[in-house]
Amino acid sequence: MAKLIIRKGRTKPLWHGHPWIYAQAVSSRQGEAQAGDVVDVVDTQGTFIGRAAYSPASSIVARMLTRRQDEPIDASWVKARLATAVRLRRRLGLPSEETNCYRLINSEGDGMPGFVVDAYGSGIAVQITTRGAQKMTPWLLDALAETLCPETIVEVEPGSFAKTEGIEASPRMHKGESSVVECREHGLTYQVDLLHAQKTGLYLDQRVNRGVFAQLCADQRVLDCYCYVGGFALNAARAGARSVVAVDSSPRAVAMVRHHASLNKLDIESIESDAFRYLSASEANSFDVAVLDPPKFARQRTAVSSALSAYRKLFSHALRVVRDGGMIAVACCSQLVDTEQLIRTLSGAAVEPRHVVKVLQIGRAGPDHPIIAGFNEGDYLRFILLSVDKEQPKGG
Ligand code: SAH
Repeated sequence: MAKLIIRKGRTKPLWHGHPWIYAQAVSSRQGEAQAGDVVDVVDTQGTFIGRAAYSPASSIVARMLTRRQDEPIDASWVKARLATAVRLRRRLGLPSEETNCYRLINSEGDGMPGFVVDAYGSGIAVQITTRGAQKMTPWLLDALAETLCPETIVEVEPGSFAKTEGIEASPRMHKGESSVVECREHGLTYQVDLLHAQKTGLYLDQRVNRGVFAQLCADQRVLDCYCYVGGFALNAARAGARSVVAVDSSPRAVAMVRHHASLNKLDIESIESDAFRYLSASEANSFDVAVLDPPKFARQRTAVSSALSAYRKLFSHALRVVRDGGMIAVACCSQLVDTEQLIRTLSGAAVEPRHVVKVLQIGRAGPDHPIIAGFNEGDYLRFILLSVDKEQPKGG
């Protein structure tokens, strides 16, 4: 097996469990290795640190698979990792009567870099984002079929990050006839076409936050901005909101909001529009509670400041349309945007109109999205809940 030798001074994060080996941390390679091969990772003294999947085309040249020298990476390794992941979800009460869609394998967080596996009722969505994972896919598919006996297994779009790995998009059915599955979250029914959806089907990372949000919505006028297929809106309506408006620019998403509203016998006004355009045209103080869950504004470091400007503008609009005493939840799915920085930006938007905003709660992805402690790169989702006091201008 080829060896990657890690530079002196660059081993510490790896000893602490960080799963990524950046190109700059590698001093040399001994032996031949192709993309996707398993390599041993050692320090300059030759001490074994772990075993990793090699991705020479990426700036993350290897991703740690195990730190045990006696652990071969093979079909039984995959099966054992899957079994551990399933056990954790069972401990978390997943699946349950109310929720049978959840994340089953969260890549590095479940010790399986390059794999995301989401359960959707009797269906499973698999996303493969590294060459290492691609090589192990037949093992994973077998393990999934054997362990969970799903009716449907779909390999979904790998997402933009897979391009650097040289992975071509190859969405396809691995098992079953139809890619459309039905599932439940918080007791609400969703229909998901796993082959033609965003992300792996639903934004499962927001499940807990949708529950938190729902608790604020009884008897309120609610706005779900960037609603996708209506997750927050449906929870709000079911919690007894006085009215719910859901806005998204994707016609497909808006059609699904309508479908989900009727499936769950709930009343939602769904609007196909750019969020900024919708907010600009809305009357001041026309909502009591709003959630803003935009797509990733910052994909690389150079885009962080423009992402923050977009958040500031978005939040300014939200401050105008939400009444005094109302609440706004702001989600951010870009790991590059720091939480403190984001909160400062939001508070900046409240200065000129002389409003006081308070942070009530900061949420993350749910516990079915485990993140290795110290692996900040995996901690991408923020859900900031704020209250709005519209102080009257003093004097004059
Ligand atoms: N809140 C959703 C997830 C939102 S993902 C949930 O809980 O499931 C972000 C959404 O923003 C996507 O559905 C995408 O179609 C939508 N979107 C992207 N650009 C937009 C824009 N300019 N205006 C409105 N919606 C937009």
